[in-house]
Amino acid sequence: MDSGFPLEIDQPDRGPGFVGIQFCQECNNMLYPKEDKENKRLLYACRNCDYSQEADISCVYVNKITHEVDELTEIVADVAQDPTLPRTEDHLCPKCQHNEAVFFQSQSRKSEDQMKLYYVCTAEDCGHRWTE
Ligand SMILES: [Zn+2]
Ligand SMILES: [Zn+2]
Repeated sequence: MDSGFPLEIDQPDRGPGFVGIQFCQECNNMLYPKEDKENKRLLYACRNCDYSQEADISCVYVNKITHEVDELTEIVADVAQDPTLPRTEDHLCPKCQHNEAVFFQSQSRKSEDQMKLYYVCTAEDCGHRWTE
């Protein structure tokens, strides 16, 4: 039934809150987020072939976190449960030593922060956040 409820979509300021799905230009398979450890950047990589591309910063999850204050304090522990975020097993949680964390790139407008990657512990009772 159409109740005439006003739709609240298309509000660019709020950000989409998820990573857009992207497809391989070589073989059309879905691209998965992947950590480029050397350059500390987020990549999208194909699991079917060798294709990878740099993540488009404007569509990374942390669109919501554009404050000028310390981004780390703004990250909610819930992001650890976000299935669209890439995970790493190479970064032990400094707090509980759990060996899986989600990570994403800083959305800060401050240039010195733009290369930063943020990590969030996926252990249920922890949710610790840190950056390198
Ligand atoms: Zn491919
Ligand atoms: Zn932890």
